[in-house]
Amino acid sequence: MRRQIPGTEIANSMLDLIGETPIVAMGNLARDEGIVATLAVKHEVSNPGGSAKDRPALQMILDAEASGELRPGGTIVEPTSGNTGVGLAIVAAQRGYKCVFVTTDKVAPEKIALLRAYGAEVVVCPVAVAPEDERSYYQVAASLTLKLGAYRPNQYANPSNPKAHELTTGPEIWRQTGGKITHFVAGAGTSGTITGVARYLLEQNPEIKIIVADPDRSVFSGGSGRPYLVEGVGEDFYPAAWQPELYNEIIPVSDMESFATARRVAEREGLLLGGSGGLAMAAALRVAKRCGENDLIVVLNPDSGRGYLSRVYDDGWMARNGFLTGKGSTVAEIIDDRGGMICVHEHTPVREAIVLMQAHGISQLPVCQADPPFAPAEIRGAVYETTLLLHDGGENWLDRPVGEIMKPPMPYIGIGESTQRAAELLEEANAAVVLEGGRSKTVITRSDLLHWYEKRRRA
Ligand code: PMP
Repeated sequence: MRRQIPGTEIANSMLDLIGETPIVAMGNLARDEGIVATLAVKHEVSNPGGSAKDRPALQMILDAEASGELRPGGTIVEPTSGNTGVGLAIVAAQRGYKCVFVTTDKVAPEKIALLRAYGAEVVVCPVAVAPEDERSYYQVAASLTLKLGAYRPNQYANPSNPKAHELTTGPEIWRQTGGKITHFVAGAGTSGTITGVARYLLEQNPEIKIIVADPDRSVFSGGSGRPYLVEGVGEDFYPAAWQPELYNEIIPVSDMESFATARRVAEREGLLLGGSGGLAMAAALRVAKRCGENDLIVVLNPDSGRGYLSRVYDDGWMARNGFLTGKGSTVAEIIDDRGGMICVHEHTPVREAIVLMQAHGISQLPVCQADPPFAPAEIRGAVYETTLLLHDGGENWLDRPVGEIMKPPMPYIGIGESTQRAAELLEEANAAVVLEGGRSKTVITRSDLLHWYEKRRRA
């Protein structure tokens, strides 16, 4: 409940502005799509930190104070993709704690700048390493916690996270819909939101359908956890709050559909969603299309598109990653219907890389951290025929891993970008990785481009 200065409507502090976010109907979208049900968004951007994560941040700190785990003047360490960090930083500022956040280089740079703006320290770790690697953000957070004698909220395991949504978000949605809600749709990262809200709503009415919107490579919808570019949702493991018996359906959504939906909602409704909001909305639209007049679908929008201006809302970024197609001749024409991505791991022996190049008649290979298709952040380097020729060998060098001799990664280009841009890129580099929908598709080389020029001349 909000505390106010008596006799006024002035909130006592920023903490009293957390929660009680509005719900708004998506009339234009519903009309566009021929939806007869009511589709409404729980707009979590109205929290002081601009995201749903203010709620668990407050609850985790209150509970840690109550249990004695967090003492006055203490330090909070948390690995976070940004929103939880902002929430924790706000609560920490109000209550006099220091914050150190650990995050990855997959996260949009403005999110990191935002955490620093609240006075927090931010440590950025490479996303392209295994969770057990000492450079991974999980491991770095663990060692910092020890070193600083800090309190680690651990939102992935902390029961106060789903509890926050069970105590606040769920009851608000029930009250705001007059108990008429029939479907609840949200993305899941820690799963705190979906599980907390589901627990409360199902207690009121067990008939309500709970639907998880999931990046189509995340484990929740049967993937391996990679690669995808939507931030804050989907996982490569099952967090403590994941409670599948509460969910009726898990809808996988691609990066492409998530980003396209976010952009459409901004244009049609004046509501600026982030990638995970676009993902949740894409799933909600699918659900709403099969619903009747009496159905009321609530989709939770976790944060604002303002945090993603350099990605989802940047045409250049969208094109480079293969999400937008320009006018005129594009890279798609050069590669034709050629598929297949041939690449090696860092630990592949040089000998195997040579055999692979010979077998496929190619003169370069991207070196990746995982099997294809991979995301740009998973590209570690490249090996070229010339690298191998010029290498002066030494004993057993054919058995050494390519990671030891690789060159920096080749550039990448979107499948819908212009052939002109491909020409510019290939003036500098021998080859480039082609991305489609944020994932590697193939490699184009100078000779592919020349071949295409020749084909076009003859046509
Ligand atoms: N979207 C964004 C942008 C987020 O940061 C998060 C939190 N990881 C979520 C959605 C998912 O929320 P939850 O962790 O409660 O599942």
